[in-house]
Amino acid sequence: MNLSYRAEAEGLFSQLVAWRRDLHRHPELSFQEVRTSGIVARTLLDLGYEVRTGVAQTGVVALLHGGRPGPTVMLRADMDALPIQESSEASYASAHPGVMHACGHDGHVAMGLGAATLLARHAAELAGNILFVFQPAEERDGGAAAMLASGALHDPKPDIIFGLHLWNTLPAGRVIVQAGPFMAAADVLRIVVRGRGGHGGLPHETIDAIAVTGQVLTALQTIVSRNVNPHDTAVLSIGMVHGGTAFNVIAETVELLGTLRTFEPTVRETVLARLRVLLDGVTAGMGAEAELIVEPLTGPVINDPTASETARLAALQLVGNAAVGRITPLMVSEDFAEYGKLAPSCFILLGSGNAELGLDAPHHSPRFDFDERVLPTGAALLAAVATRYLVEKAGT
Ligand SMILES: [Zn+2]
Ligand SMILES: [Zn+2]
Repeated sequence: MNLSYRAEAEGLFSQLVAWRRDLHRHPELSFQEVRTSGIVARTLLDLGYEVRTGVAQTGVVALLHGGRPGPTVMLRADMDALPIQESSEASYASAHPGVMHACGHDGHVAMGLGAATLLARHAAELAGNILFVFQPAEERDGGAAAMLASGALHDPKPDIIFGLHLWNTLPAGRVIVQAGPFMAAADVLRIVVRGRGGHGGLPHETIDAIAVTGQVLTALQTIVSRNVNPHDTAVLSIGMVHGGTAFNVIAETVELLGTLRTFEPTVRETVLARLRVLLDGVTAGMGAEAELIVEPLTGPVINDPTASETARLAALQLVGNAAVGRITPLMVSEDFAEYGKLAPSCFILLGSGNAELGLDAPHHSPRFDFDERVLPTGAALLAAVATRYLVEKAGT
């Protein structure tokens, strides 16, 4: 049994780059991945997979039966791009103004198709099934939740789930696999502070929503520092403040938009409870009122210990001891978290940055691009993780 796929994946290099560059040139926003999913579906059909299309609008689910029966391993790739104007001279730069693959999901699709190629070649040796999930709308609108709600992931239901994200702040080729909390839960916070507008020269006849908001912003900064246990983790960031219409008009309302990032549900509840009390208290004290709308985006990515060990062993064999490591958990969020509700799961990071080549702009930057030499590593890693799990299960 081949548990490495390294040499074979290197043989796919030009194909992987061709897939990735074509997708990069034709990025599609969340739930609009029509061209992308068409390419994915055709490729998987040609490889001999049972393919379902139109899952959660533009998702693709594909099943490969091994030579013998056994458990089902799910591998997930996301497909969507972002509403960003690309700043690049590359031949494969986005052909669509205002839309760009700035998170590396073009690479995820290419690596997924690469892994699908490798596993199809070795299907006869596998004892179990491989379930590929090419998911729409990771960046917004809940693509993973929509894939789960579609019911398409229950036939067969996966026994274990792996996903992989390219990561530009890590050097190319480095692999991060670790059990436990890995990426944070995210909520969107919408706050409206309501006062009473009026003339800028007659403040005593108004309730100045902007002055109240100043107090609110200051008070909010005390929640994480004074109410959250220092050993726990939380981030409360206000990213947008909108209020006022003219220099001589006192604003009636101010709208704030922010995000809350946590790992523990109890910490999340503490912050939200304090947020409500402070909003009500501070605004009431100044004669105003506040409305808070909390929109949960996604839960935390918590890597299962057993799944993580399988992934770690596969990575060690593929890239060697020195290239496999750990990082402090990230406060970014990923809707891969949703799949943890379905089966034990592990999310892996593959370093894709290369400062010498100028390929180290952060994710979601208009200059984002990554070192394509990691594409075979990613394809081989996905295939190796799935194969190793099936081998472990067959041996027990
Ligand atoms: Zn992203
Ligand atoms: Zn992403």
